[in-house]
Amino acid sequence: MSLCDPKRREVARPRSRALFLRAAAVLPGGVNSPVRAFRAVGGDPVFFVRGRGAILEDVDGNEYIDYVGSWGPLMLGHAHPEVVAAIAAAAANGTSFGAPTEAEVAFAELLCRLVPSLERVRLVSSGTEATMAALRVARGFTGRSKIVKIDGAYHGHADALLVRAGSGAATLGIPDSAGVTEGAARDTLVVPWNDLAAMERLVAAHRDATGRSEIAAVIVEPVCGNMGCVPPAPGYLQGLRALTAAHGIVLIFDEVMTGFRVALGGAQGRYGVRPDLTCLGKIAGGGLPLAAYGGRADMMGLVAPLGPVYQAGTLSGNPVAVAAGLHTLRLLAQSGPSLYEELEQRTARLCSELLGLCQEVGVPATVNHVGSMFTLFFTKGPVNDYATAKNSDVNLFAQFFRAMLDRGIYLPPSQFEAAFVSAAHTDEHVDRTLEAAREALRGLRELASPTEMAPHRG
Ligand SMILES: *Cc1c(COP(=O)(O)O)cnc(C)c1O
Repeated sequence: MSLCDPKRREVARPRSRALFLRAAAVLPGGVNSPVRAFRAVGGDPVFFVRGRGAILEDVDGNEYIDYVGSWGPLMLGHAHPEVVAAIAAAAANGTSFGAPTEAEVAFAELLCRLVPSLERVRLVSSGTEATMAALRVARGFTGRSKIVKIDGAYHGHADALLVRAGSGAATLGIPDSAGVTEGAARDTLVVPWNDLAAMERLVAAHRDATGRSEIAAVIVEPVCGNMGCVPPAPGYLQGLRALTAAHGIVLIFDEVMTGFRVALGGAQGRYGVRPDLTCLGKIAGGGLPLAAYGGRADMMGLVAPLGPVYQAGTLSGNPVAVAAGLHTLRLLAQSGPSLYEELEQRTARLCSELLGLCQEVGVPATVNHVGSMFTLFFTKGPVNDYATAKNSDVNLFAQFFRAMLDRGIYLPPSQFEAAFVSAAHTDEHVDRTLEAAREALRGLRELASPTEMAPHRG
């Protein structure tokens, strides 16, 4: 089919279908990460053969404008020639040494230069590892056990972080996943996003007999992306900084998604708030498995071999992954603020016109965006935390997703994910996306009965 045909309905994907059936016999659910399975939107996942810039090509020869970007890493689009060349050159020299290289030093220097709060940084292979290790450092530094996370925030799949809210802000953690022991989740406390008063109550409630805080760390996505895009309320991050500092609590910004995305200096650069520890991944790895955690020198000085907090990795600082990350970040740093401004403007236009189209057809919608990350929620909103995000009509989203897919637009296959505009997306891509959305939304109105159009249907 031609790229992004707005009239298109049912698109044939027989090869994807056949591969998914084969996959299901050997991979749980046919995938290597759950949301790829399209369970939230119906239909079969699309199997891809190629990506170039903003465009993906599937095994059946269909093309799509991609707003997933491998879930965030591909700020420069698919197969950027300079990044690919850097990867090839590094691989030709050997794919792994398990010993230091110059490139990882240059990469660490660049990370510390670009991310305001980084004084020392340790490379790992996934965002999950980064958050796990950052929490270990925070517990080692404070000698305290408890940690606080935000309801609906995702920090990877480490046991202690697979916890959602219990009933009320101060409820002790209840594991979200089978296989996570109560012990692993017991020290995880959960509060709603953007509710500083709830955080203050929680901190006040968890003090020992001498009045000392029992909380080692507060970990946040400084712009939530994993409940869909939900920005911090004005002053919220500053409030967290002041509160945690007052109680000797380590403030961890999980910038795995927001790092190099919402600004070159990440959310901490954008909002001018300095966390104690930071987690990076996604864009930092330029599309290869690479992540990092770092921050204050006194805290990172506890990490082995300097100190008693153990953390290691066979492939940590892998030269091929470092080459991808280094060249991606160098290109972003060279482009400077103008690239980020351009992306933000393009994304803002996409979002405001999407909202306008929804309003035209009478579909309840809220569009949140920060920089080049955005989510179209099918609820009248506003969406400012997980509870309000969950008011979205997920059936309407699923229909919209499939209608867009059949018109050559590849969106994240879940209402509760952020979509991404990359440096490879042009105004023309945005125009074609809006054209497809107009058709898709009209189709939804025809499909939906009046009751189905009511907002706030869980
Ligand atoms: C993606 C993500 C992670 C997990 O990273 P993986 O590399 O998938 O383990 C952690 N935190 C945030 C905020 C993320 O977006």
